Amino acid sequence: MPQRPKLVLVGQLSTLPWLFDAAERAGVDLILVPRGDDSAESALRPDAVVELLPLDIYGDPEGALSMLADRYRREPFDGIMAGNEQVVPFVARAAQELGLTGLTEEAANVVRDKRSMRRRLLEAGLGVPGFVVIEDPDGWTDALTLRFPVVVKPANGHSSFGVIRVDDKDSLEQAVARTWKIVEGHQGAAVGSASAVGVLVEEYLDGPEISAESLVHHGKVRVCAVSWKGEMTGPYFEETTLRAPAQLPAEILAAIEAEVIGAHRAFGVTEGTTHTELRLVGGVRPVLLEMGARIGGGGFMHHLVQGSSGIDLAADALRIHLGREPLCWREEPAPAGHAAAYLVPVGSGGRISRVRGLDAVRTDPQVDHVVQTVGPGALLQPYPDWSGYPAIVLSHHESDAAAEAFRDHLARTLHVEYEEQG
Ligand code: ADP
Ligand code: CA
Repeated sequence: MPQRPKLVLVGQLSTLPWLFDAAERAGVDLILVPRGDDSAESALRPDAVVELLPLDIYGDPEGALSMLADRYRREPFDGIMAGNEQVVPFVARAAQELGLTGLTEEAANVVRDKRSMRRRLLEAGLGVPGFVVIEDPDGWTDALTLRFPVVVKPANGHSSFGVIRVDDKDSLEQAVARTWKIVEGHQGAAVGSASAVGVLVEEYLDGPEISAESLVHHGKVRVCAVSWKGEMTGPYFEETTLRAPAQLPAEILAAIEAEVIGAHRAFGVTEGTTHTELRLVGGVRPVLLEMGARIGGGGFMHHLVQGSSGIDLAADALRIHLGREPLCWREEPAPAGHAAAYLVPVGSGGRISRVRGLDAVRTDPQVDHVVQTVGPGALLQPYPDWSGYPAIVLSHHESDAAAEAFRDHLARTLHVEYEEQG
């Protein structure tokens, strides 16, 4: 019998099941490089995980790389894949040094930085809002030339932390200072490289938000699903809901696809899976917000893809990182139905005691997964800062209308309760 392929999965939180389940379906063994906040006990729990390989990627990237190379020399593995946004450049570098499938380091660095993504899109003639890069807090006056409203955001943030809509010029200085402070707070806590600091101010793209999940293999891109995120007008942009497939006319879907494929080319993203966010300006014209060169939402975007298009996104992503062709290149899956995700809003923030209403949701036949990544006692910051999602509910439905009605039901019944302030 041929040996099962082995893949190093870097920084995937073990409590998020989708990639681990996909590895079992695809017959892949995982060597997990646990995230710093994961426990060894939890990291070993998924059946697909055959080995743990702790690496200090942030503190000692060179040491981490040489430990990985040592492990490879002892017994070669067949692929490596990023499980979160921050490790994308490290994984690209490791793949290149070991001769495995992956991104070039250049592409990995482009997609880790919103400034370089904006520049690349502009050069490629794709849709880009007016934008100004601010390299130090006093540079905010450079952005006064933009058309307001604008959005102030970290050059390489995530989860919308530090993202603030500003309607008039008088409020800009304060917003830039606030975002700067939040960026510095997150820097101290986690990753650190000088180029990571920086703030972007860009013109507000007025229209609903969507996301596109893609597979890319040898440079060929397939947009597997487009999800509807709805109208988010700020001033902060907490994500709460996604539904797939987005109910859009064929010509708008084609325009989204063209923009997403063009962005892969502009960024040089040729292998793996991607999560691209766009706005539909005026409800019709797709403009990119950003792309992550990894599976979206820690893997939960797999649920939206498989639940709508029928494509096994997570398993095909693993295949690509093993140097294989994704199955959906040859076999057209039957469209599955409608899928949805609901992220319980943080609300006021504080020390979480529980999420009220969650027990009833768990037994609902439309619900497939309820994930809680922060336990009781964890301190959650309200937006525009961020420190975790209280809970994520993934469901399937017979129609988009049913998915929307369920979202409204969850919004009415699920609430985070915080401990009383002492
Ligand atoms: P992050 O990495 O924090 O997710 P994004 O660029 O995706 O950063 O911004 C977070 C959210 O802020 C987006 O999902 C969107 O709702 C909003 N946003 C960011 N930039 C713009 C813009 N130029 N116009 C309108 N909304 C924006
Ligand atoms: Ca985003």
